Amino acid sequence: MPNDNTAPDLRRNLLLGLLPDEEFRRLEPLLEVVPLDVRDGLYEAGKTIEHVWFPVDAVLSVIATVEGEAAIEVATVGFEGMSGLPAFLGTTESPHDCYCQIAGTTARLATGDLRRFLTSDGALHDLLHRYTQATMVQLSQNVACNRLHTTEERCARWLLQTRDRVGSDEFTLTQEFLAQMLGVRRGTVSLTAGVLQQAGVIRYTRGRITVVDGAALHEAACECYDVVQAEYRRLTAAPEA
Ligand SMILES: [Zn+2]
Repeated sequence: MPNDNTAPDLRRNLLLGLLPDEEFRRLEPLLEVVPLDVRDGLYEAGKTIEHVWFPVDAVLSVIATVEGEAAIEVATVGFEGMSGLPAFLGTTESPHDCYCQIAGTTARLATGDLRRFLTSDGALHDLLHRYTQATMVQLSQNVACNRLHTTEERCARWLLQTRDRVGSDEFTLTQEFLAQMLGVRRGTVSLTAGVLQQAGVIRYTRGRITVVDGAALHEAACECYDVVQAEYRRLTAAPEA
């Protein structure tokens, strides 16, 4: 395998990282490294999903648009996963849009190549099954979270998750985007971020977030952060025989 220092380490993506070396080497020629910018679209509601995407340090959002209402995030995909699960699960399209929320690197794979690759007897198939389960936990936890937890708790949870995914204490995020992620008005985001900032937990200037005190941010977040983290950690454990 070429060891080029400038090449992104695709195996930072948890799913790619968990593949046996031999299987990754077979998959690698089919992967295309694609840097994404904020708001780059990956797939659109009602259109064919052409690729699945493995984020390396980019963060992707799956967005539902309700008629007459603002769009709201229903799921987030970072280095722990893959966007385009409907393509794995056997459908060709989704009722949701998916786009890049935090710029970074991804590796994409044509859905036809994914299907062909899955017919070979490898680890990816099981891995994607377990990832589907983890995603279902994320989705159901989000339902409870949106209903029961305060905006401040949810904001802290979301910032923690984003820090993990980006792999840095600093990242760029507009208030508009954060409002969409949390399903609240922009003014509410401003107030909430203000509370966390005054407590010395984060700094937020000109759309740039700095996590100043990660432990305090964890303290401020609802339990949903740990519940979903535990589920993604389970991905790394082989299923019991
Ligand atoms: Zn919650």
